[in-house]
Amino acid sequence: GSGQTVDLGAAVEDCLVFVEHEISSRGIEVRKALDPSPPVRIDLGELQQVVVNLIVNAAQAMEQGGRIDLSLRPEVRDGHAGVGLSVADTGPGIPEGRLGAVFDPFFTTKQAEGTGLGLSISQTLVQRAGGLITARNRSEGGAEFRIWLPAVDPSA
Ligand code: ADP
Ligand code: MG
Repeated sequence: GSGQTVDLGAAVEDCLVFVEHEISSRGIEVRKALDPSPPVRIDLGELQQVVVNLIVNAAQAMEQGGRIDLSLRPEVRDGHAGVGLSVADTGPGIPEGRLGAVFDPFFTTKQAEGTGLGLSISQTLVQRAGGLITARNRSEGGAEFRIWLPAVDPSA
């Protein structure tokens, strides 16, 4: 249900199992830095949908191989305890003029396999859980997507 308490680190590990083929078939290396983090409240299936889409997007951006960096750590935002998850890759990045469009429904640059709905749906699901999702290009090259979700309030 949507009131589930979720351990993001364990959920990310589960997602990696789902996308193992997508990743290994492209010769992509995965680096994980998953620090112990407080639980968040989000539907587990929805969270997995978001994380899988980010990892598959990263893999699809690196047909020639590369690396995906997953990092998770506690992160306070505007005074609220929460958890930050970063999914970064060493692909070509997002053209600067398109950074504002990647969360738009039906925005895709993929020929056949793209619906352009993944990031739009992901944004809806993350925001509904009280969090936010952002996209940027890394100065060293590649795209980075960051998710922040509020920690479960232990006093609630
Ligand atoms: P789809 O994967 O079906 O195209 P998404 O909403 O998941 O739809 O992504 C929208 C678009 O955002 C992609 O088509 C691509 O142009 C861009 N994009 C998403 N992730 C990345 C990434 N890691 N690197 C480069 N471009 C990306
Ligand atoms: Mg996608």
